[in-house]
Amino acid sequence: MRHFFSCLACALVFTIPAHAQNADSSISPKARQIHDSAIVIDTHADTPQRFLDENYDIGSTDPKDTGHISLDKVKAGNLGAEFFSIWVDPETNQGHFARHALDLIDSVYEQAAHHPDRMMMAFSVADIERAHREHKLAALMGIEGGHSIENDIHLLRDFYRLGVRYMTLSWSNTNEWADSSGDINNPKVEHHNGLTDFGRQVVLEMNRLGMMVDVSHVADKTFYDVIAVTKAPIIASHSSARALTNHPRNMTDDMLRAVAKNGGVVQVNFYDGFIDEDYRRASEAQRPERDAAVKASIDQLKAAGKTVTYVDADRIEREWTAKIPRPPLKSLIDHIDHIAKVAGVDHVGLGSDFDGVSGATPEGIDSAADLPKITQALLDRGYSADDIRKILGGNLLRVFGEVERVSREMQAAGRR
Ligand SMILES: [Zn+2]
Repeated sequence: MRHFFSCLACALVFTIPAHAQNADSSISPKARQIHDSAIVIDTHADTPQRFLDENYDIGSTDPKDTGHISLDKVKAGNLGAEFFSIWVDPETNQGHFARHALDLIDSVYEQAAHHPDRMMMAFSVADIERAHREHKLAALMGIEGGHSIENDIHLLRDFYRLGVRYMTLSWSNTNEWADSSGDINNPKVEHHNGLTDFGRQVVLEMNRLGMMVDVSHVADKTFYDVIAVTKAPIIASHSSARALTNHPRNMTDDMLRAVAKNGGVVQVNFYDGFIDEDYRRASEAQRPERDAAVKASIDQLKAAGKTVTYVDADRIEREWTAKIPRPPLKSLIDHIDHIAKVAGVDHVGLGSDFDGVSGATPEGIDSAADLPKITQALLDRGYSADDIRKILGGNLLRVFGEVERVSREMQAAGRR
């Protein structure tokens, strides 16, 4: 409620409160009240690519900036915690995955250091709750893609010590110990039929450390291997439902039920290609032309002696994604609803993929400022305030707390 009253107070003086800039008459006072009473947690944003490649400042107030995350947008959307993605492009970082991961980790710390009044690094459930009390954004980190540990369990522990609190076992590339859904049908890639023995060791060490095991991106067999070996609940940090949108990145109903049984949570990805079947098909049809355009422009930059970054490729991708109509917000809500029905309302949350989808988010969701629209839509579908708060962040907090508990138990058992 404190947010609510302080914003009323802002409105009475002459400044425009941040969320009024995006105020939407479609948000009822009841939805706003529920939304602002929740600890809202998003488990996947690619903004660190911008911090590092563009020198993007999260304090930016540039009205023309099309990014999904800024501190003003965070405040307007009452986003309480963001897991910033430490994603290392395996193509452009051959030979130095870990070092690039370190640079991205540094970029998150630097943002927090520049904005100590509005943002803090967070490493635990208690930190997220403290940030919420202090009206700051809790900044957490997840490594996207197990290749970044360079097959070294020592490095995995070092990343934990630096604050990394989840790791997506694979990105779109199969690494040396976990198969990915991204290249599972590519005969040129050496696969392992899921997780290798070392991969199982990685999962158990993550359990022991208290690092959440993330199954987004992994191949189906890898998923079931993880379910069989993990001692703690798992997360899918940014995945949607395959029954609604037939993409291998999404989770089948059987997988959703397995996550429920494991006590974990599936955090719905907002990317149009994962939440809307029409969009997915249009995007697939466009792929050859789009990929050729991206490659041509990257080759051009390389020929001119320039270092090519994620941001360069993203610029071209955006021109192409803009050619396909955005699906309605309903498509995203359908996925939340489906997972809540199949796995249960205790096993679904939000994993936007903000700043990682070249602007391809559903209509009405242009940044973190629009998160209250999800609350309104869930309220309209008859979800209770308590269930909405679980979806917005409560479920993730429960899973994170369980992961912390299992870690304490495993460490205590190891000392005996
Ligand atoms: Zn991803």
